[in-house]
Amino acid sequence: MAEFKKINHVAIAVNNIDEAITFWRDTLGLSFSHIEDVPSQKSKVAFFPVGESEVELVMPTSDDTGTARFLAKNGPGMHHLCLEVDNIDEKLAELKQKNVQLINETPLVLEGRKMAFLHPKSTQGVLIELYEITK
Ligand code: ZN
Repeated sequence: MAEFKKINHVAIAVNNIDEAITFWRDTLGLSFSHIEDVPSQKSKVAFFPVGESEVELVMPTSDDTGTARFLAKNGPGMHHLCLEVDNIDEKLAELKQKNVQLINETPLVLEGRKMAFLHPKSTQGVLIELYEITK
């Protein structure tokens, strides 16, 4: 059975990443690591490491992304929870067998990691991202 390792990150959808960084860094006082353009996800992401996990602020750079649709519907707020697992293929197969609705039937393979999303309809309302670190 695949095992969970940690919460990799909590992602927060934002409309204005500069304003959001100002809040998380200057007002709340988290340490800000860096901001990254992630063309594969059509978004800009700001990283705030907290212990072994991270808070990520995600701003879509295109209207045709899930995050952009989420923002249009709900406004800024918590978008998804990312759990790191030691074997994502095994975990997805396991969840499929338990009738959990998978957004990605097979993991997306990115540099250094594999990832897949579970549909909030079958996860008590939380968009869950699974990560397997491969590097
Ligand atoms: Zn994520």
